[in-house]
Amino acid sequence: MNCEDHISHYLKRESIDRLPFLVKIHLLWCGKCRREIPALRKNLAAYRGIFPYAMKRDMSDSIMRSVCKMLPYKRGAVSESKWIISGCILLGSIFLMPFNNSMQWVRDSFGEFFDIPLTIVMGMAISLYITLFAASHLKNFGLRSKIDRILAKEAQ
Ligand SMILES: [Zn+2]
Repeated sequence: MNCEDHISHYLKRESIDRLPFLVKIHLLWCGKCRREIPALRKNLAAYRGIFPYAMKRDMSDSIMRSVCKMLPYKRGAVSESKWIISGCILLGSIFLMPFNNSMQWVRDSFGEFFDIPLTIVMGMAISLYITLFAASHLKNFGLRSKIDRILAKEAQ
């Protein structure tokens, strides 16, 4: 290691108060480092306790007051009317599908056998929709309190 390596090894340490063992040995025969490292120590010690963004006055109280005034995070809820409208659109599209020209083209291309997987997919879509609706409206069904009670019993 040369002089720069020893100095950078010394500067990378968290504490500048103690010299690393290898640097101490290096200082035994290197006069340049014997002059440079104490000067570095003196300069670094002068900067100790000085913060780069020193505030003129203590702002912690005003910051904490504004943090306490902030409203808690509230999840955005989808309104009832949007749920009902989207459910009606989903159901209506399923019921109107047999009358669609595209559906007729699909039947002509793939045959009547295509109806079964399509019906299964549509059934899964409406089931998923109903599941999401029920999961997001547990309070309306009175299930939330029952679930909380069951979970509390299991926790005991
Ligand atoms: Zn040196």
